[in-house]
Amino acid sequence: MTDKQFIIRLNGLEVGSHLYEFKVTDSFFETRDYSDIQGANVKVAVELLKQNSIISLTFKLSGTLQVLCDRCVKAYDVEIDSEEKMHLRFGNPDEPHAEDVFVLPHGENELDISPPLFEFISLALPSRLVPCEEDKNFKCDFDTLNKLNDISVDEPEQKPDSPWDKLKNINFNNN
Ligand SMILES: [Zn+2]
Repeated sequence: MTDKQFIIRLNGLEVGSHLYEFKVTDSFFETRDYSDIQGANVKVAVELLKQNSIISLTFKLSGTLQVLCDRCVKAYDVEIDSEEKMHLRFGNPDEPHAEDVFVLPHGENELDISPPLFEFISLALPSRLVPCEEDKNFKCDFDTLNKLNDISVDEPEQKPDSPWDKLKNINFNNN
């Protein structure tokens, strides 16, 4: 899938440094099957350094992502501030190559940065999202928790500690 607004044109690009700015908003995730992220307001600065045979890109991400608490599935904002690099060169993508180098087919004149961007955003998130453990002012939404627990009573095969499974149940029952 190609997202037109996340394309960097490679044809005619001179050797040297080039700067790009992108904005990741809610719509970036609407078209992707990634339910952990509900919304986004992230600024992405990309510095592209073109050398003779290799192109290096540095991604600087800063902003907020709206995610769901792992425990009570309440939405909250998490701040991200990260920097990631990727390298690419032209060649035959089917031939063996270094794992950290992305190979573009010869003659390809655009780079769609949305797949690596998506990966970098996912990497910037903590692996466990339970804000109530880190922030004493943030309380789990126990009303939601209780409702989820009530619904799952008749479902002995569901793991009681997984709100995600219970959510799937709700959707299933409503349909
Ligand atoms: Zn919570």
